[in-house]
Amino acid sequence: MIDLLALPKVQLHCHLEGTVRAETFRALARKYGVELGERASPDRTYAFETFGEFLLLFAKVTETLREPADFAQVARDYVVDAAAQGVRYAEVFISPSVWTFFHPELDVRAAVEAIREALDDAGRPLGIEVALIADLTRNFGAERAEAVARSAVALRPYGVIGVGLGGDEARFPPELYARAFAIARDGGLYGVAHAGEAAGPQSVRAAVELLGAQRIGHGVRAIEDPAVVALLAERRIPLEVCPTSNRLTGAAPAGAIHPLGALDAAGCVVTIDADDPALFGTTLLDEYRFVAATFGQDAILRFARNAIDASFAAPALKARLHAEFDRSRNSVPAGRSR
Ligand SMILES: [Zn+2]
Repeated sequence: MIDLLALPKVQLHCHLEGTVRAETFRALARKYGVELGERASPDRTYAFETFGEFLLLFAKVTETLREPADFAQVARDYVVDAAAQGVRYAEVFISPSVWTFFHPELDVRAAVEAIREALDDAGRPLGIEVALIADLTRNFGAERAEAVARSAVALRPYGVIGVGLGGDEARFPPELYARAFAIARDGGLYGVAHAGEAAGPQSVRAAVELLGAQRIGHGVRAIEDPAVVALLAERRIPLEVCPTSNRLTGAAPAGAIHPLGALDAAGCVVTIDADDPALFGTTLLDEYRFVAATFGQDAILRFARNAIDASFAAPALKARLHAEFDRSRNSVPAGRSR
């Protein structure tokens, strides 16, 4: 058995607001008088049934983040929890558009600065580096997305390296955001997009061809069109696949084998992540364990290496992560055999 915990991991698809510990969410809600209803009860805090309900839950968690200090606490907790999973480098999503929807008076720059400081202070002793990707949040429309893209460019000094495109994919297709992605690209940012999660393969194709997305969040429904699978494989566009998320939101059919194996077999660059680990009741390590048990050890090792290569880390950091990866594979923990 390989020691999955010891593998140095790169995290590419994780939303900071989706990592908020349930007890922190309840405490912040109490502090700010946010009505939780049945979510006040610990066994119902993160309950949801459909993708629509999940998006509302994500919004509810974000509603309790009001002050830069709240964001700093969440960022600190994220680093501690990620380090405990063996994460060494991460590109984490933040959703400033949702923050200011609830709190128009919030100073986004101050919040991102607080996040940056917390990530660095907590991350340095734990040996984990974290970059940020500002999600454009499709639900607010193209104009708002363009404003977020401009603000993301201005936040580059705080380690914002790219823009993402999450939210309601079924009602807000990629083509609406071509201009926002161009603004980000012209400002020196990378661009990634959720696609093929709540909409079909045409959404994946549009994210690649019209937005120039450099990675696809999930992309699992590409499997419905062999031509789109071939496009992803030929262009080596990495997929950030989150198995538990896909099962719970219905992006992948429950009860069937997850399509990530077929996507991998077709030559796609598959990586594995946890999406909103706290909200989905999972961890990155749980996702790695699930994939290792379902698709085998060689597959999880390949996907873990893919994540290093698919990241936007500088070449020197990638080389260091690969070297650490090799070392972790060569050292067999005492009392265990491979
Ligand atoms: Zn996501």
